[in-house]
Amino acid sequence: MPAAIRNEPKPPLIWTNTLMFVLTALAAAVLVPWYGLTHGFSGADVGVFLFFLVANGMAITAGYHRLWAHRTYEAHWSLRVFFLIFGTMSLQNSVFAWCSGHRAHHLHVDDEDKDPYSARRGFWFSHIGWMLREYPSGRPDFTNIPDLKKDPMLAFQHRYYVPLALATNFGLPLAAGILFHDVWGMLILAGVLRLVWSHHVTFFINSLAHMWGSRPYTEENSARDNPVLAVLTYGEGYHNFHHIFTHDYRNGVRWWQWDPSKWLIGGLEHTGLTRRLKRTPVIHIQRALLTMQFDRAQARLAALPAGGHVQLEALRARIAHEYESFLAALAEWARVKEQWLEEKKRAVLEHWQQVDLQSKFREIERRLSLQVRRMRVLQAQLA
Ligand SMILES: [Zn+2]
Ligand SMILES: [Zn+2]
Repeated sequence: MPAAIRNEPKPPLIWTNTLMFVLTALAAAVLVPWYGLTHGFSGADVGVFLFFLVANGMAITAGYHRLWAHRTYEAHWSLRVFFLIFGTMSLQNSVFAWCSGHRAHHLHVDDEDKDPYSARRGFWFSHIGWMLREYPSGRPDFTNIPDLKKDPMLAFQHRYYVPLALATNFGLPLAAGILFHDVWGMLILAGVLRLVWSHHVTFFINSLAHMWGSRPYTEENSARDNPVLAVLTYGEGYHNFHHIFTHDYRNGVRWWQWDPSKWLIGGLEHTGLTRRLKRTPVIHIQRALLTMQFDRAQARLAALPAGGHVQLEALRARIAHEYESFLAALAEWARVKEQWLEEKKRAVLEHWQQVDLQSKFREIERRLSLQVRRMRVLQAQLA
């Protein structure tokens, strides 16, 4: 039972966080229009604002999230330094604190007492409220980041987090202001507005991405896929996929899904700056998609009266037939896989056999992706 329902007193406020969020938001709301109207912003102000904004956002998504929290790939030290500088600048705590909380979120997703930003506790709590008070669910516990604690670069960032955060937040916009001869314009746009904007779009992943959108892969948690949020969050809006396949470096798994973080990580693989990218096997993705589609179709059919009109009966029969061929495809896949492993073990897998088995895998995948499309049509008829 959540604390609010249990009528427990609210935990004490964390004043530093509260003041930081309130004052930066107020400063952005007042200073940006005032300076814009009285002095105007230069092209350089806007350019540096956009650069810092994207660098902050991607340092969180591709760095804090996909590299450190989930270890979906490995990165060259120079890229890790870049992520550390701009991740620190985004003022979302150290990698240790961020990743520890995030791993707890995945492990206990939606649990009102253990998920640090459980969406079940409402929009405000999951968006920002969880950082404003000393909630027991948010208590730091670094026992879930033993791998990260071994990294000296991350330990350094954690130890000197406050001076580093201040230096990047004041120092970088100030340096840009001196360089482009507009210190105040730069501090307001690339300093304050950039920080507030980058905070809230990232926070949407914990709040809106657990409330608004579709659930094509799983209904076991509240995470949603939402292309609008994906645009705002450098690809993290495909959160339903992410919560089921956490080890995949992609969140928008289809090539056309807007996920700049995936394009960055994938693009840098060609330069050697990223390596060992983890990809979920296609069959696992298709299995999740089709299982969801069949579950939904069955639930819908079960809600309709038995022995309905002829059209409904025909639909029922088609779905049953689709389900049989789905199970047959999975069984065939398992057989080909077994053959593959067997021949590999005996070290007799010739190149032509490999090509032959691979083409069998592709053929099953092709059949399943056609089935996903057919099921979409059938579901639309059931709606
Ligand atoms: Zn995650
Ligand atoms: Zn989540």
